Amino acid sequence: MNAPFPHTTIEGYPRVGANRELKRALEAFWADKIDEETFESATHSLRLDTYARLHDLGLSEDYAIPADVAYYDHVLETALTVGAVEGETLADEFRLARGNAQAAPLEMTKWFDTNYHYIVPEIADEQEFQARPQRVLKLVEEARQAGHKVRPVLVGPVTLLALSKPAEGSHTQPLEHLGKLVDSYIEVLGYLHAAGVEWIQLNEPALVADLQAADDATLADALIQAYERILGTAKRPQIYLTTPYGAARRGLDAIAKLRPEAVQVDLSVGTLALELDYLERVAQLPVHVSAGLVDGRNVWAANLRDLRAKLEQLPGASVTTSVSLQHVPHTVVAETTLPVDVATWFSFADEKVREVVALFAGPLDAPEAYAQADRAVRTRAESARTHNRDVAKRTAGLPEGQVQRQPLFAERIEEQKSLGLPQLPTTTIGSFPQTQEIRAARAAHRKGELSDADYEKALRKEVAQVIDLQERLGLDVLVHGEPERNDMVQYFAELLDGFVVTENGWVQSYGSRCTRPPIVVGDISRPQPMTVEWAKYAQSLSAKHVKGMLTGPVTILAWSFTRDDVHQSVSADQLGVALADEVHDLEDAGISIIQIDEPALRELLPLRQEERQAYLDWAVRAFRLVALEAQPTTQIHTHLCYSEFGQIIDAVAGLDADVTSIEAARSRMELLQDIDEKFHSEIGPGIYDIHSPRIPSVAEMAELIRAALRHVPAERLWINPDCGLKTRGYAETEAALRNLVLAREEVLASALEPQLV
Ligand code: GLN
Ligand code: ZN
Repeated sequence: MNAPFPHTTIEGYPRVGANRELKRALEAFWADKIDEETFESATHSLRLDTYARLHDLGLSEDYAIPADVAYYDHVLETALTVGAVEGETLADEFRLARGNAQAAPLEMTKWFDTNYHYIVPEIADEQEFQARPQRVLKLVEEARQAGHKVRPVLVGPVTLLALSKPAEGSHTQPLEHLGKLVDSYIEVLGYLHAAGVEWIQLNEPALVADLQAADDATLADALIQAYERILGTAKRPQIYLTTPYGAARRGLDAIAKLRPEAVQVDLSVGTLALELDYLERVAQLPVHVSAGLVDGRNVWAANLRDLRAKLEQLPGASVTTSVSLQHVPHTVVAETTLPVDVATWFSFADEKVREVVALFAGPLDAPEAYAQADRAVRTRAESARTHNRDVAKRTAGLPEGQVQRQPLFAERIEEQKSLGLPQLPTTTIGSFPQTQEIRAARAAHRKGELSDADYEKALRKEVAQVIDLQERLGLDVLVHGEPERNDMVQYFAELLDGFVVTENGWVQSYGSRCTRPPIVVGDISRPQPMTVEWAKYAQSLSAKHVKGMLTGPVTILAWSFTRDDVHQSVSADQLGVALADEVHDLEDAGISIIQIDEPALRELLPLRQEERQAYLDWAVRAFRLVALEAQPTTQIHTHLCYSEFGQIIDAVAGLDADVTSIEAARSRMELLQDIDEKFHSEIGPGIYDIHSPRIPSVAEMAELIRAALRHVPAERLWINPDCGLKTRGYAETEAALRNLVLAREEVLASALEPQLV
């Protein structure tokens, strides 16, 4: 039993299904519309269809197809397989992922620097790890019956622990449990060996990141500890150790020492640009290399000739993708409305599999693929869509380095007293519940069943109701409710030049949740105002201030597929000036308070420490460009969606917004300690956790306001929820906001003298 490693492979494939079959099956099962057997059979067909497709696309060697499947999340399924979390049944798995009436779900967090979210295992002091190989064995067996020798995939032990957190009340760090966990992996490997499996893929992406839990050296040591034992085991499949999402540093030295049977490295253009000697270091590895040359993160057709030149520096290497293809949509073929020139520039999962195969075959054996790739590269580089001279001229005229709005905050805030806001002003974050009617109207409009005029009428009615509701509740600064926005990024992408949106480009975000990220195809500009009519209409309905509502440049980029031919900061600057024009037009339309949301500011933070400051510099600059020319009397708000500010607090303060709203209810204002020192601006720590249908009482919110007042002086404090209300229902929203206003009254009434609070 010693099958060679396949010449071509991929690291993983989208799990949702070309027609979102997984999403449908999951949601039907959760809603009790199908039973477990029907669910299993739907997902079984999806897996086998996927294997068949990959085989047809050219992954025909044994073990070329990864069985990288998961119902909800691959970290959770590995954790179940090695017993790092307790659970045997499907019901257990979904309870851990989603919670139920009795139990809270496990926490969910972002997977490296992607928009995928994984379930965070919790490791207790007295943790036992029980091997439960049944899931993987079943995958192998069902594939075998369909004629495929697939490669099972698990998150490796080091990464699994590096991404876990200590269970509540535990004193040990997860990585301290590595020894016992490895026992469990070895047991699982033994079962797979007995079942005749010759290759297994163990993913160790922790090796490419500077994690809070462990630094590079600690992770490399942990790798040695774990894999010396795994590789020293006689009865096991051959080990394919992978390091996607960036460059391994000490981890690569550790791999050279360990000599697993094969190793995957990320050799994407982006990774090589940051790690100049990586290709050379990889070429010296005394291990069979699977070269992750085809970029699994972006949607661009590969420059096959360039990649082939790199491959030739790695004699004998196999070809694969830089990361799992789970982060890109299934296929460009499903797109029928893309501009024809643009369509040929794209490569989604299926097209990337073909690129892997062609790359290995070489230009002599796959001349058509190379010719097509050459054409795509050339037409894209030459296209006026890619390079817009007017945009280039405008951004070239911008000052270099950091930009600064004038006058400074201290002076602006004095001028903004003209806004006439009360003490502890109340507001919301922007969106109001997206009702069934609005969704239905949007769907009908998209299908052409509802005219533009009728759609607009429905939206206006909604805006009027939202304004009326806020007036009745007694909120101070109003919003229009964002009913016209399907999504806070897609909405702007559809209105800006330089983007295209897809019809079927779904990508899994977590569980059954999928998003359709827009694609930045070239230089970005704003052909016309995007939000002004809505803001103006809403403002016309009220004597109070209505906030203009924009999504910031960093968030637009973070939730889109970006260009690979310019640095992200170039697109960020272009977005910055496009949105600055919008700010200007809003001001002209009589809007005096404008919010620029940046909930994704932390998401793009590079995995390596030394790259972070440069990122934060261009990200902060892009935001500042938006507000740069705003009138001193225009109050700029921003909003961020989380409370762990540690790594980026200076950058958040550096945004130089006049008012910053953040999530704080769940952490009970703990974060304000840090904020107090760094922030001079006004601040709205959320006092209503909108992630739950629960209606917080007046007393509870008043208590949070008092807690906030211990850190922030009353003249700088705003009263608002944690985030937008889009996902809530009207009944709970109305009740909670009523309590929010009452809580503010209560605090004001009970003596708001600074020395008393
Ligand atoms: N203004 C947006 C909303 O309220 C902000 C959403 C977000 O922060 N994710 O929906
Ligand atoms: Zn938010």
